[in-house]
Amino acid sequence: MIDDFEARGKRKKLVAGLRNKGITDEEVLRAIDRVPRHLFMDPAFLIHAYVDKAFPISSGQTISQPYTVAVQTSLLSVKKRDKILEIGTGSGYQAAILAEMGAKVYTIERFRELYLKAQQTLSALGYQADFFYGDGYEGKPQYGPFDGIIITAAIKEIPESLLKQLRTGGKLVAPVGGSDFQVMTLVRRDGEDSFTHTTHGTFVFVPMLKGTVNDN
Ligand code: SAH
Repeated sequence: MIDDFEARGKRKKLVAGLRNKGITDEEVLRAIDRVPRHLFMDPAFLIHAYVDKAFPISSGQTISQPYTVAVQTSLLSVKKRDKILEIGTGSGYQAAILAEMGAKVYTIERFRELYLKAQQTLSALGYQADFFYGDGYEGKPQYGPFDGIIITAAIKEIPESLLKQLRTGGKLVAPVGGSDFQVMTLVRRDGEDSFTHTTHGTFVFVPMLKGTVNDN
C-alpha cells in the first residue's frame, strides 16, 4: 500500500476545500490531511479518492463524503485517548481518522466482508482499532462507557441502549431520519437521565439495518 506525492498534494486541496465549506477543527483537518483515503477504495477509483464525494465500496455500501466525516468528527470534539464507538465500519476510513486523532476506537460492521477488509486496511497503515462483526444496535456495553459514539448509517431514532453507553459529558452523533435524507443530530449526556439534542444540517446515508450478513 503506497501513499505518494501526488496523493498528498490532492489531500492538501481537499483540506483547503473543507475549510472553505466551514470545517474549523484543526485536529480533524490534520487527520484528513494525513489519512490516505485512496487506500480505502478500490485502486481503480484513485481519481475519485480526493473529490469531496461519497463513493461505492463493496457489499453495496459507501465510504462517506469527506465533508460528512469532517462534520461528524468535529461534532464529537475528539481528544487524545477518548474512547469512541463507531457503528458502521464500512471501509474503515472514519475509524482511521479517529485513530489518527489519538482516540481508542471500537468499530462494528454488519457485513463480514467489510469487517475483514477494513481490519486489513487499518493494520497495513499502522492504525490500531478494535473491530467487531455484528449488529451495532446493541453497541458494546462491555467496553463502555464511551466518550463518543458515532453512527455512520441512517437511523430512524437513536436507541436508548446506545445513549446509556455514553459517559456523563459524552456525545453521540448520528444521521437521524428516513431514507430520503437525515438530520445530523448531536446528543450530549448531561446526567444519568438527562440529554441535550442539537441538529446540524441534512445529509444522506445508507440505512442502518438489523442483523449481520456473512458474505465472505
Ligand atoms: N464509516 C464508514 C461509512 C460506511 S457506510 C466509512 O468510513 O467508510 C455505513 C456502514 O454501516 C455500512 O458499511 C453498513 O453495512 C453499516 N451498517 C448498517 N447497519 C449496521 C448495523 N446495524 N450494525 C453495524 N453496521 C451497520
